[in-house]
Amino acid sequence: MSMNNQGRPTRAVGAATSGAASTFTGNKALQIEEGLIFEIGHFAETGVDLPEPEGVESRLGDLARSSEIGLPGLSEPETMRHYVRLSQKNYAIDMGPFPLGSCTMKHNPRLNEKVARLPGFADLHPLAPQDSVQGALEVIDTLAHWLKELTGMPAVAMSPKAGAHGELCGMMAIKAAIDARGEAGVRTRVLAPESAHGTNPATAVQCGFSVDGIPADDTGRVDLAALKEKLGPDVAGIMVTNPNTCGLFERDIKAIADAVHEAGGYFYCDGANFNAIAGKVKPGDLGIDAMHINLHKTFSTPHGGGGPGSGPTVLSDALAPFAPAPFVVKDDARYHLVESRAAAKEEGEAASSIGRLTAFHGQFGMFTRALSYMMSHGVDGVAQAAEDAVLNANYVQARLKTEMTAAFDGYCMHEALFDDRFLKETGVETVDFAKAMIDEGYHPMTMYFPLVVHGAMLIEPTESESLRELDQFCDALIHLAKKAKAEGPDAFKAAPIHAPRRRLDETAAARKPVLRWTPERPPQAAE
Ligand SMILES: *Cc1c(COP(=O)(O)O)cnc(C)c1O
Repeated sequence: MSMNNQGRPTRAVGAATSGAASTFTGNKALQIEEGLIFEIGHFAETGVDLPEPEGVESRLGDLARSSEIGLPGLSEPETMRHYVRLSQKNYAIDMGPFPLGSCTMKHNPRLNEKVARLPGFADLHPLAPQDSVQGALEVIDTLAHWLKELTGMPAVAMSPKAGAHGELCGMMAIKAAIDARGEAGVRTRVLAPESAHGTNPATAVQCGFSVDGIPADDTGRVDLAALKEKLGPDVAGIMVTNPNTCGLFERDIKAIADAVHEAGGYFYCDGANFNAIAGKVKPGDLGIDAMHINLHKTFSTPHGGGGPGSGPTVLSDALAPFAPAPFVVKDDARYHLVESRAAAKEEGEAASSIGRLTAFHGQFGMFTRALSYMMSHGVDGVAQAAEDAVLNANYVQARLKTEMTAAFDGYCMHEALFDDRFLKETGVETVDFAKAMIDEGYHPMTMYFPLVVHGAMLIEPTESESLRELDQFCDALIHLAKKAKAEGPDAFKAAPIHAPRRRLDETAAARKPVLRWTPERPPQAAE
């Protein structure tokens, strides 16, 4: 195997183990091996060939660069090929099913993209005079209206830029409300189920709270009795996901809300899974005080790889006064932005605002996509999407539980959770099973999350998947499950054999990432 100067294999490990012949170039079929841009470019070259300007005197003096700039030079076609080849290494929902549980990879209707690219939206500057962007402010206001309508909540903060950011917004509002009650330093404990998404405890800690875990009962839901025992005068609130991260509806949610309120705490609901209940259930009816909605998981928008996200956070009457700036207000048919804490106070709305969470007004490109999605679906279409998501997940659960082990009995919501009992004594583990899926052309499901079941495999089939796609996916997984039981671990431990880099050492990649490229020949001093 050849290595580059970072110790990274430059060719697929292939030949010996996969039985596939290695090629002279390292390319396979029409998949082209692509180096880093620094490995293929040259410091001495640039992509432009303008003549050196004559008679120009530098005024940089001592500040003029004395060595080469050290950037790789490529011609325009070379540059284009480099980035197109890299883009083809991405797996995407537009290529096939993306069964990641919890993450909800939705189909992104092309209509949304068209609307988001309208120059009147796409080319706006966030500091443009408000009179010149009335349409954009109307988009924010209309989307806010529908989010309040769908959740049955009186207020919404539009600026949070991801689910985790929405959690921060909601928990900061809860903290501010507690401080305003004169209970600062008294209510310091936040309860969260052991199945919670990692962002929940992280957010609570970020806001200065300590986190106390609530165990799950044997149906995978919050253990209400255990929860009640943990309540006390030092509890600031609870963070519960509904539907939860096991893909199950928390049936006791109203009782949970009542118990927490009775103890003087607030109820934060992680609404990342709103796509399973949108148009069916109004969180406002469930006693929730704050909930973020991941627009990118419920109302489309391409996401993954860290962005973009948008996490508007709905707030109850108790928390609305603490909503962050900026927000849109309409008076006499004109929209304006309330931009600061002082202005909020003057306005009376959000009079005790926690201030700003973002530099500007939120993720506007996603607002246009989410609103297009809502308006093209209509209220009945949004409810239908939720129903189809739940139907698809139950179809997958019903078909797969013949060979795999469903973690809990009964119907699920929008995602189906399996554990690794079906792999017991096969020598195959969850990670091996997931890697074998790559060879079958499927992106793996979410592995080892939630933590409350052993060797978790969390499958979320998007509502837009057809029966044909779902059947092929299920057939492939059933085939793998049977193969694991019949043949044992050898083939699985070697998987994926068709991926260019085979199986990566993910622990080393996470713990010892190589983020810096050092050139073989450092940039030379300029002549
Ligand atoms: C995705 C997700 C989050 C975090 O959302 P981001 O937009 O990734 O910050 C929080 N909770 C749950 C249950 C999620 O699925």
